[in-house]
Amino acid sequence: MSIHYAPNAAPFSVDSASRLDAYVAGQNFDKPTLVMDLDRVSDQYRALQAGLGRADIHYAVKANPARQIIARLVDLGSHFDAASRGEIALCLEEGAAPSEISFGNTIKRASDIAWAWERGITLFSADAEEELEKIAENAPGASVYIRLIVEVSQADWPLSRKFGCDRDMALHLLDVAKALGLNPVGFSFHVGSQTRRAEMWAPTLDALSLIWRAALDAGHDLSLLNIGGGFPAFYGEEIDAPTAYAAQVIALVEARFPNVARIMAEPGRGLVAEAGVIVAEVMLVSRKSDRDMHRWVYLDIGRFSGLAETEGEAIRYQFETVRDAETMGPCILAGPSCDSADVLYEKRPVSLPLSLKSGDRVLIRNTGAYTSTYSSVCFNGFPPLDVVVI
Ligand SMILES: *Cc1c(COP(=O)(O)O)cnc(C)c1O
Repeated sequence: MSIHYAPNAAPFSVDSASRLDAYVAGQNFDKPTLVMDLDRVSDQYRALQAGLGRADIHYAVKANPARQIIARLVDLGSHFDAASRGEIALCLEEGAAPSEISFGNTIKRASDIAWAWERGITLFSADAEEELEKIAENAPGASVYIRLIVEVSQADWPLSRKFGCDRDMALHLLDVAKALGLNPVGFSFHVGSQTRRAEMWAPTLDALSLIWRAALDAGHDLSLLNIGGGFPAFYGEEIDAPTAYAAQVIALVEARFPNVARIMAEPGRGLVAEAGVIVAEVMLVSRKSDRDMHRWVYLDIGRFSGLAETEGEAIRYQFETVRDAETMGPCILAGPSCDSADVLYEKRPVSLPLSLKSGDRVLIRNTGAYTSTYSSVCFNGFPPLDVVVI
C-alpha cells in the first residue's frame, strides 16, 4: 500500500503534530528554536526499518546530531554513519557499539582514522588512492568500501560530483585496497538527498549493478552494498509513505543484487526532518516602493541560521502562521542578517497572510534535518538555532 501525502495535508500523524503544537503553543521563544519530537523519530525509524527489511539503518548523524536523538536511535537498534571524529565520539558516548559505526566520509583526517581505529571502528569509505593509503597506514587491515559517483540524480538536493569515483577508478581502488592489506568489502553511493520517488533510484542501481558484476568478474569477493541516503521528507510535493518507499527501494536493490550479504542504508533527512518544527518570528514586513507588487517578509531565521537548504530555492519549507485563515498573498521571504544572499524564496514567492506583521509567530514545518547543523555560530550577532527535544 502506498499512502500519498496530498499537498496541503498534514504530513505527520495528528498525534505527533499535536504533540509538537501543544508544546510550542505553551512556550515563549525569544530566538528561533527547533523543537524535535523524539517519539516521532522513533515512529519514523520503525516505519523505515519495516520497509528496509534485512538492510541495516546507519543514521547519517549530520542530519541532526542532537544527543537525545542519537541515544534514542541507539535504544532502537540503529547503526550510525559518522563523518568525523566528533560524530563518532558522540555516537560512542551515547552508547553505540564501535561495530555499529561506519566512518563514511571519503575525506578523513589521518589522525582521526587512527583515533577511530583505536576505538574499534573497522569500516571506512574511500573514493581515492590517497585516502586508501591513509586508511592502510592508520587502520591497517580495516574493511573499506568504495564510493561510486552518481552521474545522474533526480534528487531535489543532489550531492553532485564532489563524492565518489567512476567505474574504472572504483575497480582499480579495489585492487589498490587489497594490495595495501585492506579488506575491500563493497561499494557505496548516494542517489542524492530528497529523492522524492523510489523509482528515481532505478537508473543509478542499474549502472551500479554493472560495476558490481565487473568487480566480481575481476575476482573481488564483495559482501557489502551501502545504498546511502536520499529518503525524502514532505516539503509540499507528494512523496510516498516511508515504509512503502523503503520497501520499493529494497525491491529494486534485491532485483539487481540478489545475493549480497549485507545491505546498509543511511537515511538522514528521511528519519528526522518530519519530527521537527522551527518556531520563528516575523521581524519586518515592507515594500520597496508604493508600486512594489511583492511584500518583503523578513524572519528572525535565514540562510545562515539554519535554512541553508533554501540555496537555489531547492528545498521548499512549509510555513504556518496564526493568520492563515485570512487573505493570503505572495511575498519574498528573507532572513535577518546583513548579507544580500540571505534571501530564502524570491523566484517562487511564498504565500503568506496579507495581515502578517512583525512579532507574529511563524512555524516552519518538517525542519528536523539539516537545520541546526547548518546554523552559523553568531553571524551578525544573531544567535544560532536553538534546539529543544521533547
Ligand atoms: C548526508 C549523507 C547521508 C544522508 O543523506 P539523506 O539524503 O539526508 O538521507 C547518507 N550517507 C552519506 C555518506 C551522507 O554524506
